[in-house]
Amino acid sequence: MKTALTRLLVLTVALIPSLAVAQNRIVIDPGHGGSDPGGVGSGLLEKNIVLDVGRRFKTLLDRDTADTRGGGRWVALLTRSSDVFVSLSARAAFSNNQDADRFMSIHSNAFANASANGTETFAFAEGGTGAALRNLVQAEMIAAWRLTNRGNKVANFAVLRDTAAPAVLHELGFITNATDAAHLASATERQKAAVAHLRAIQRHFGITPFLPALAALSGPADGAGDPATGAIDPTTDGAEPTAPGEAAPPADSAGDDLDDAADTDAASAGCSTASGTAGAFTAFALLGLAAVGRRRRR
Ligand SMILES: [Zn+2]
Repeated sequence: MKTALTRLLVLTVALIPSLAVAQNRIVIDPGHGGSDPGGVGSGLLEKNIVLDVGRRFKTLLDRDTADTRGGGRWVALLTRSSDVFVSLSARAAFSNNQDADRFMSIHSNAFANASANGTETFAFAEGGTGAALRNLVQAEMIAAWRLTNRGNKVANFAVLRDTAAPAVLHELGFITNATDAAHLASATERQKAAVAHLRAIQRHFGITPFLPALAALSGPADGAGDPATGAIDPTTDGAEPTAPGEAAPPADSAGDDLDDAADTDAASAGCSTASGTAGAFTAFALLGLAAVGRRRRR
């Protein structure tokens, strides 16, 4: 009897892993914040636009998890959920500490010439998992907004280089271009952008694209800004107590080392056209080589 019980217990424990539904950990990284507005144009601040899109994306992932009729199951984490400054190194460290499966940064471009326009998405290198996700984000965003397709690109951005998880950095459009800015300014279009990111990550994991129910089917309200209102809510929802944007300043903020200098350049370049910042690209690429120990390829 005791032996039979033991066998049953062993069998039960052995079955648990196969019964568990995998939850992919997605770190969503709204660019800039606080003292860093990012791109400025058309009466808009990049930091507010990308925070709103990021929060909408998190809400969709949470709702997808709650809605068991389809889609996937996710742990969605924001590097910042309010208007606070978070260093690039802190964003990457957060992703690494959270053991993220994917890292998805959201930005909007800016350029001195208002004619520059379009959507582009970056990965650290060609051929890997990050590039595969990049291609899907770009494809879904082109289908959603139908802005100029600037293509799938690679860049040595700090958040792509220093994150252990396969990572992408998306540039929604140019805040300095009238056509693109009209999309950035529209709550309806920002929701479409969030849905495009949801569809991209679902397809990336082999899941048929699924739009979850607008209200969470179970559990407490997620507290994220209501996509229906379109309001950019700067308050925190309290769901990410460990996010760098909610925590004390990271230790490295006291002394700017070589990496921080490179990070700053990368951030600037990420929100301008490559052609307009060739010097900055070269400079931070050289600085990136100095930090060779931290480079990752995927
Ligand atoms: Zn940016």
